Amino acid sequence: MNNDMELINKYSRRQLNEDEVYTFSVVLCDNDIDRDIEHFDDAALDKLKELFVGVSAVYDHEPSAKNQVARIYSCSCEDVPGRKTAYRTQYRRLVGKAYVPICDATKDMIDMLDSGIMKEVSVGCAVSKCTCSICGKDMRLSECSHVKGRHYGGKICCCVLSDPTDAYEWSFTAVPSQRNAGVTKSSVKKSFGETEPFSEYISELRKEAEEGMRYKAALQAETVKAGISAQAGIRSELLEKMTSLLSVEELTELRDAFTKKAQARLPIGMQSRKREPSPGDKASLIGFDI
Ligand SMILES: [Zn+2]
Repeated sequence: MNNDMELINKYSRRQLNEDEVYTFSVVLCDNDIDRDIEHFDDAALDKLKELFVGVSAVYDHEPSAKNQVARIYSCSCEDVPGRKTAYRTQYRRLVGKAYVPICDATKDMIDMLDSGIMKEVSVGCAVSKCTCSICGKDMRLSECSHVKGRHYGGKICCCVLSDPTDAYEWSFTAVPSQRNAGVTKSSVKKSFGETEPFSEYISELRKEAEEGMRYKAALQAETVKAGISAQAGIRSELLEKMTSLLSVEELTELRDAFTKKAQARLPIGMQSRKREPSPGDKASLIGFDI
């Protein structure tokens, strides 16, 4: 605790004693795939370990000074023995040690921390690289044709976040104690260097990009299906692999060529028009039912 007090006192205006602070540990983020199908690489966690020291928590989602009551005073990366990530590597997490000055204003917060109600944390940080786990190209620049969440040769495609440049906040998300009881869970809110007022614009762009990816996945599935219908003599696995490398224009051309060939095989009267996939289509809804 003495060493901890030394670190804590680097941030306080006056020397605080052990009985004047409440300390706790918090899992800030890890190297596992999150709900956005993204994950930090191990080097990013090492860098965030440095960046998060001294960063205050934003409580109740309001970044006003009165809410900045908890501050990280030391950080470490730890491997959890026996636990693997979804992409089968050693699970690693970034754990921050934080302190809160004990006073009337922080009493409720300390009670909630003690009771385990405040367990979920989100972090705000900026990373400079966002690469595809399959081909290593930048996913933000749409340089690659892989789709997040899909498997290629048994490997999941996700966005690898690396080279963090800033860690600007972490915040608690209060969850009911009966839900997630006993679970230390971290959800990661990331941004890529853009903060307010651009965040809304960026999230719009991301939404559009995701819709585009879904459209492309649907088009790819249609092309594979048309290739099978056309009996082009290409295995579906090979078709899938080939089409994953094509652009939207190339996929459309190939899909149309296959469709034409497939229709030529049908007797007149049985030919049908192909429906264009719409951006709302989900790739998984288009089954390979032939
Ligand atoms: Zn890729």
